[in-house]
Order: sequence, then structure tokens, then C-alpha cells
Amino acid sequence: MLLNGDFMINTINTDSKVPKLDMGAPVHKLDKFAYFGNDLGAVYSKEKTTFTFWSPEALSVKVKLFATGSDSEEGAKVIAELPMTQTDENVWRAEYKGDHKNEYYTYVINFKDKTTETVDIYAKAAGVNGNRGMIVDLESTNPTGWDEDKHIFLKSATDAIVWEIHVKDFSHSASSGVTEANRGKYLAFTESTTLFGEGIVPTCVDYLKNLGVTHVQITPFYDYGSVDESKNDDSYNWGYDPKNYNVPEGSYSTNPFDGNVRITECKQMIKALHDAGIGVIMDVVYNHTYEGEGSFFNLSVPKYYHRFNADGSWSNGSGCGNDTASEHLMYRKFMIDSVLYWAKEYHVDGFRFDLMGLHDAHTMNLIRQTLDYEFGKDNIILYGEGWHMGTACPCGTVMANQGAIRSMPGVGAFNDNIRDAIKGSVFGAYDKGFVQCGASAEKIKSGILAETTSWAGKAAQCVNYASCHDNYALYDKLILSERGGKGYAERFDYLVAMTKLSAAIVLTSQGIPFFLAGEEICRTKFGDENSFRSSAKVNEIDWENTGHYADLILYYQGLIRLRKRLSALRGANEVSDKANFKFIDTAMPCISYVTNFNEDGVNGYIFVALNPCDYDVRINLADTGLSKDTKWIAVANKHSAGTAPLMAISELALVESKSALILIDEKAYKQLFKR
Ligand code: CA
Repeated sequence: MLLNGDFMINTINTDSKVPKLDMGAPVHKLDKFAYFGNDLGAVYSKEKTTFTFWSPEALSVKVKLFATGSDSEEGAKVIAELPMTQTDENVWRAEYKGDHKNEYYTYVINFKDKTTETVDIYAKAAGVNGNRGMIVDLESTNPTGWDEDKHIFLKSATDAIVWEIHVKDFSHSASSGVTEANRGKYLAFTESTTLFGEGIVPTCVDYLKNLGVTHVQITPFYDYGSVDESKNDDSYNWGYDPKNYNVPEGSYSTNPFDGNVRITECKQMIKALHDAGIGVIMDVVYNHTYEGEGSFFNLSVPKYYHRFNADGSWSNGSGCGNDTASEHLMYRKFMIDSVLYWAKEYHVDGFRFDLMGLHDAHTMNLIRQTLDYEFGKDNIILYGEGWHMGTACPCGTVMANQGAIRSMPGVGAFNDNIRDAIKGSVFGAYDKGFVQCGASAEKIKSGILAETTSWAGKAAQCVNYASCHDNYALYDKLILSERGGKGYAERFDYLVAMTKLSAAIVLTSQGIPFFLAGEEICRTKFGDENSFRSSAKVNEIDWENTGHYADLILYYQGLIRLRKRLSALRGANEVSDKANFKFIDTAMPCISYVTNFNEDGVNGYIFVALNPCDYDVRINLADTGLSKDTKWIAVANKHSAGTAPLMAISELALVESKSALILIDEKAYKQLFKR
């Protein structure tokens, strides 16, 4: 097949109404044998299962069928071995007549110099530990009511408020009130729960409904390799070590041996979140594989799906031992197919790309294009880690980092500028940021404008945050960086004040606000900076903190309510209008600005002041440039936040030490809130 850079590409599990995608020019020598059909993997029907597999250098291939997902299970046996035939489309095919659902399979491949056995990279189901694929009747995995389950789409990605959670962290603690068998599992999301299962303090999904977040970003829940699924124990890992990309992780299911159970329970989790009005953003890690040499990609087509240095060594920009090659046509296709599959089959509402800067920008644009075609423009949220990274990708390739964001419309990136400016660099435990009064005011201002003065094109491309799963939890970082700075007795209030100020910055900045689960209840990981394989105990959410930090939860809740009500606080038109922002000269390091808005036909002004100092600051409101008769209503101060009026202010605004002050002009306030 000749390539001309313009292919009709079909994708797994879709019909033929597909967009025309420019898959790009061949890069790898095997790209000229690329196959763009929509039938890769095992396609099941009651009458037959058809296997289609791409491996152009194989001399012969057979499908090996098993009764179980591993040899250690009761009834383990080989059922059949089917030879595959190479077609003139450069794929291997075998037809398996009859109804063979729930049989497990591998491919055995003869190459010139070796024989490999591998799981199908397109497997949609797998046995325990993902060591065999499974023929699945996907229809039969759907939980009750799945047909009525709908995606959560927002008008703009900036309407999202994202809470990042790990499946096990969410409910591992008994304080979650989740029934013991479901703790740490997908099914925990389906329970209605209270603290320790007693009283009325909501936890888990019920808690999230009250908090008001619109989306959860879930740490990898595709099948990863680092946790032994055969032991239902306390083993823990974040899961950034992908094994089977199109299969849910088994250790989060109640039975990882039956390939159907994890699929059904994963769908139940997503449906329960959707039922609560909360969307699901899936953390996807296409940039590297758990193993390099032994990965199913490398066993299927040796040295094709990864990048290699000129000396033949594995490219390792990811720091995980290997980088995949999104510029190679069949890996590019795999990424598009996989993302589309999760969005269609599992109703996933958005994707967060781990180390997105290792992928090429063209692939990300094709993913955007494909999802837009299926679900409408920008409805599925896409963003990733846009760090600039070294990797063995051909010279001249535009990589999907912050520098290329403007050429990737509809794809966002994390804002490390504001992350570090708020509370100090992640690369120095004791480094201070704005909330500790360690300066960085200019970087905060840049974040307030969603980096549209630096790398981002639109507010919807900028994910603002103070903490995520990586690096110290916000609480731990604040304690470390403030060591000795304040007496112990003062520390509790002081930490809460800094956390509130941090939340006020993130939730009033243009862009997509994001925070690590539990930031709003001073979650600690006990100073563990990189807890990816620490104990579940270190990582779990301690829901008892909902009691200790009820005031802080109310503050986050209030800011969320305010942000949802005022589109000017988030950049609703997607392009943050820099002209509308007037920063006021205040004593450094304070920041204050005024911006106008038009909400439901009401024109008005919002004034925001951020004071990181240990003393109160007064700001002359005439400096806003508005009439000095303008009266203001405070909706957020050091103590409370929300849409309720806290006090009337005119002429002089007092911004208490370590706090934010948010004002709305009285005339607009009365119209907006009908008071
Ligand atoms: Ca696994």
C-alpha cells in the first residue's frame, strides 16, 4: 500500500461514518505496511470471532485459546490453536467459528530469529494480571441503565472544576464509610456513604456532590502492571505503568480473574459519577510502556512502537525506560483508536495525557479531530503535561508541549508557572511562593490571565493548580516551606489561611481550575513527595479531616459556587479578554485587579485582591478607575466565600493578612442575586 499522507482511517468500534484524517508521512520502515482498518483485535459475534493482527515481519502467527486467564486457575487448559493467514492488506487474520465469548487468547508469533507470545495490544478484556486477552461480548458487560447513561459535556472546558483522585485513595480508609468489600474498588463510587458509615457527614461521591466539582480526573485505571491482581491485598501503585491500554485495571475490581467483571464495575463507577452530575477525565499514559523489551507492543512488532537512539538504545525521555513513538503510523493510530474507544465504550468525558510533551503535536490534533467528529467540537476535554522533553523523535517534529499549544486548538496543558508561583517550586521543598509571601506576583498575574500572555492561546488551554498527585500535597509543602516561620499554636490557622488564599487564586483565574483530592481538607501524605508506590495508608484520603476542616470545605464550596455563577471568573468565551483586566498598583507583593462582566444581561464589575502578607492591606477603590461613588458587596474574604453578601464596602477595601477579598459592584450584585 502506498502512502500519500491522506488516509481514510476507521477506528475500532465505530461505524463507517468517519472523518478523513491526515495520518502523516511514513517515518519508520514498517510504516509503508500500515493498516488503517477498523477491525484490529478480536471482533466477537455469536456466530464467530474474527482476529485481526498487524505484524508485517512475522513469518507465521497463530491464536492460542485458553479456558482461563492464567494456568493457576481451576479448569485451566488450552482450548485450540488457530493458524492465522496473512492478507494482502498486510494483516494476519483468523476466523473462529461458533460462540466463544469469555475464552482467553494470546498470539504466538514466529519471526526469523525468534518466537514470541503476546497479548493482543487491541485486547478489550483480559484475565488476571492482564497476561491473556479475552474474547468479550461488550454488550453483556453493560450495567443496568447503561443505555441511558450520558456524557457530561460543558459549554466550555473552563466551566470544569477538576478534582484529581486515585481509585484506591478514594475509599481505602474505613472513614470513607464504604462497605469493606468495596473499599479501594470501582464499586466504592456507587455507594451512598457517610463518615465511618454513621451520622450524616457525607463522604465519597455524596461529598463531591456537595463540594460542587464538575469532574474527577482519575489516576490511571487502564490495566497496569505494578500491582499483583491475584492478591486482594493492600498493594499500592499510582499506576503509571501501562500494560493493556484498552482494558480496565483488575485490582480495582472485585474479581480480576473474570475478564467481564472489571469492565462492568468500571462502567458502574463512571455511571455513578454521571448520575451525580460529575464527569470523568481519564488519566492516560501512552508515552511509555510498563516494560520495554517485554511489552506487548515490542513482542508483537519488535522495535516498531518505541523510539530508539542512534546507537540502538531505548529512548528514555519519560524516565521510565522507554518512550513510545506517536510519529510511527500504527502507534499514532493506536492512540487515536484507544482514546476513542474509552470515550465511546466507557462514556469517558475527558483525557489527561501523561507527559504529553513526548507525543507529537500532529497526533494530538488527530485525536482532537476524531473526538470532535464523534462528540461535537471540544466536548471531550483534552489536556496534558506539556513539558518540554528530550526524546529520540526525528528532528523538526513539532512536539505536544506548551510551546506548541497554540498550534493544538482544543488541547490544554498544565500551568506549572502558577503551580510554582502559588506555593513555591516543586523542585525545592523549602522554596516559597506567593501565599508564603515569597513574591512571584508577576507569575500569579500571568496565571490569572491563563498564560495568554505567554504560552496558552485560550483560557480553555490552561489548567491552573496548586497541587496534584505529583510532588508534595499542598499541606505538606506549606508546612515544609514555613518551618520555623510561625509558632506551632498559630500554625493551624496560618495553614488554613494560606490554603484558602491558594484556592482563591486558582478558582478566580481564567482557565480550568484543578486540585488534588483532599487539598480542601488539608490532605497530608506525611511529607512523602513521591508516593507512587508508598503504602495505601500514606496515600488514602482520611475522611475524618472533613470534620477538622469543615470551614475550609465551606470556603472551597463557596468559591466554586461563585465561579459557577460568574463566567467572568473563568473565561467563558474561551478567549480570556486581557483588555478587560485592569491590574491596580498596590504595595508589593499584593495583587489586585478589576474586571468587568456581562452575565445574563447584567453588566458589572468584579474586584479581586490577594494579600499574602502577615499584615492587613488597604486598597483605595478609586484606583479601580471606576466612579468613587461605586459601592461594593464583598462575597469572599479571609473567612468566608460564596454568593451571599458578607458586607458592603466603599472607597477603601481592607484586605486582611493572608487572604483574598472579592467584591462585586452593588448594583450588579443586586440584579444578579435578586437581593
Ligand atoms: Ca493490572
